Amino acid sequence: MAEFTMELNDEQKEVRDWIHGFAADVMRPAAAEWDEREETPWPVIQEAAKIGLYSLDFYAQQFFDPTGLGIPMTMEELFWGDAGIALSIVGTGLAAVGVLANGTEEQIGTWVPQMYGDAHDVKVAAFCSSEPDAGSDVASMRTRAVYDEAKDEWVLNGTKTWATNGGIANVHVVVAVVDPELGSKGHASFIVPPNTPGLSQGQKFKKHGIRASHTAEVVLENVRVPGHCLLGGKDKLDERLARARERAKGGVGGWGRVKNAAMATFEASRPAVGAMAVGTARAAYEEALEYARTREQFGRPIIDNQGVAFQLADMRTQIDAARLLVWRASWMAVTGKKFESAEGSMSKLFASETAKKVTAQAIQILGGNGFTREYPVERMHRDAAIYTIFEGTSEIQRLVIARTLSGMPIR
Ligand SMILES: Cc1cc2nc3c(=O)[nH]c(=O)nc-3n(C[C@H](O)[C@H](O)[C@H](O)COP(=O)(O)OP(=O)(O)OC[C@H]3O[C@@H](n4cnc5c(N)ncnc54)[C@H](O)[C@@H]3O)c2cc1C
Repeated sequence: MAEFTMELNDEQKEVRDWIHGFAADVMRPAAAEWDEREETPWPVIQEAAKIGLYSLDFYAQQFFDPTGLGIPMTMEELFWGDAGIALSIVGTGLAAVGVLANGTEEQIGTWVPQMYGDAHDVKVAAFCSSEPDAGSDVASMRTRAVYDEAKDEWVLNGTKTWATNGGIANVHVVVAVVDPELGSKGHASFIVPPNTPGLSQGQKFKKHGIRASHTAEVVLENVRVPGHCLLGGKDKLDERLARARERAKGGVGGWGRVKNAAMATFEASRPAVGAMAVGTARAAYEEALEYARTREQFGRPIIDNQGVAFQLADMRTQIDAARLLVWRASWMAVTGKKFESAEGSMSKLFASETAKKVTAQAIQILGGNGFTREYPVERMHRDAAIYTIFEGTSEIQRLVIARTLSGMPIR
């Protein structure tokens, strides 16, 4: 088991510098344009694919890095480059993780490569869980999957919302209800293969930030997928449902155990979002530091004023603290340590709130210029707002932390 370390090893530093080079030379210069266009930056994704930065191999390597620092390091550098473009690059990973977590080896081998395509024909994938009436409250999901035994097909009906890459993806991973009696334990995940009839894109959202990332509704009307598209397979699902029914009969204590098991899975993915937030916060802090050193008022650089310098001191301190929480949680997840105190949620909560605060302070330090689109901190502040919302809002993270610490069903 890898010891916890606060320093990247030489190999990791090399990878970090390589990603940083792409973020600085390709992503940053393209950021304002794609933010204005509000479209998926396909040429940038293609550039990333050409050098291997958009590929299954690369993310698998980082995902299985035994120190746990591969993914946070990658996320921080990409989101330092630009959050909207970075989400277009890593959004496919959300769907890929859905398959890695629940799929058989055969399903992983068949579908995950199709999610990325190749450098000549780049593809993206979408993970569709949220619905208009089921955001934080995942158990309220209504999209139904019904098994047609005669044809060995599943029939999916419902409307998904807020899906990153929804409708433009080659492969969609869709979470649906197979047993409404069992709450979130009655859900299962399905692959919807490319060009499946019945799946269409609904509304594409015009957003406040991360505008280079495509977010849309996904409508499923009598979508028929073969039996082998149920992730994990039918036997495993039947066993899981039988166990859940038994536990449900066992009363509140039984449900408590079921919920905690699901919670542990979500916990493990949250530090990655924390790392994205650290990247955006660091980018804004660096802009503010540079500006404060060069902008002169009253005959001296504005950083000469404690009122400005102390803000920068606080910004940097919070960013470093956020990174440490993210690295701790990532290391715990990869080494199989239990999040006894909801450390995954802590890292996401602190890092996302830090990004919002730091990007707002950066605008203040840049004064009028910070408020314009001539300088990137305005975009960074709009982008940072997403981190306290997706993958569990800050309020939901606080609920998870408070419930874990107290053992009480706090509402
Ligand atoms: C840009 C973007 C990309 C996204 N990408 C995806 C994706 O790829 N796939 C996907 O499935 N989903 C995606 N989402 C959905 C995202 O995960 C949800 O928006 C999020 O879970 C919150 O759900 P909601 O928007 O319905 O808010 P709601 O759940 O309606 O929450 C509204 C407010 O009420 C608060 N609240 C709710 N319940 C409680 C409670 N019990 N205690 C205290 N406060 C509470 C929330 O914290 C929030 O402040 C994306 C969202 C956005 C905006």
